[in-house]
Amino acid sequence: MTLNLFMWWSMPTVRFLAALLAALPIGHSVQGRPIRPVVLGHGSRTLLVVGCIHGNEPAGMAITAALLRSRPLPGTRVVVVPTVNPDGCRALGTRGNAHGVDLNRNFPSNWARIGRRGSFQWSGPRPLSEPESRYFVALVRALHPDVTIVFHQHEDVVRAWGRSRPTARRFASLLGGVLPYRDERWPYGTEANWQNHAFGDEASFVVELPAGSVPTSLVPRYVRALRELARVGFVR
Ligand SMILES: [Zn+2]
Repeated sequence: MTLNLFMWWSMPTVRFLAALLAALPIGHSVQGRPIRPVVLGHGSRTLLVVGCIHGNEPAGMAITAALLRSRPLPGTRVVVVPTVNPDGCRALGTRGNAHGVDLNRNFPSNWARIGRRGSFQWSGPRPLSEPESRYFVALVRALHPDVTIVFHQHEDVVRAWGRSRPTARRFASLLGGVLPYRDERWPYGTEANWQNHAFGDEASFVVELPAGSVPTSLVPRYVRALRELARVGFVR
């Protein structure tokens, strides 16, 4: 019976259930949309990939969708969050969440009050004021990923700071010249700022895709680079 049920269910459903079985938290946006991590494979090494956090920068979701269609890698767990901002990335097309908060200024590391409601980079009234950023902190604490990558647009660069620089540099080289690498300090209250200060041997960095959608011919190259980095893990 159980086997039959699994045969009836679609792969996304099965992966969703796998995430549940792995006891990973499921989040909800301000407007109640679910934020679901999807798990590919299992092993001692974890790569966490977020397709979209700024709703007006959605190109990475084509890469995360393709990544989810790939086979699991032996000994490696790839956790994909297509979007941590489903209201902004899927429904509203806005940089911020449904409160107008720039989630990538809402994390509790070097947080600073930036702008106000309606401002481009509104930090929110306080660190972790938003359900989406609180969820992501809970997810990272549950996963302890070796490497975290969040896609943005459109500075056309792989950028990192601090101990995440060697891993980000490696990722840029795995992309084979598609995007250059650049050292850049973390802005106030960003996700990478928080992760780089909160944990030890883990890398978290940003991939700024070019404007527009990723050309179909380039998607497999991003997927290959992500899978290879999942194997490599944290680079010292
Ligand atoms: Zn961005």
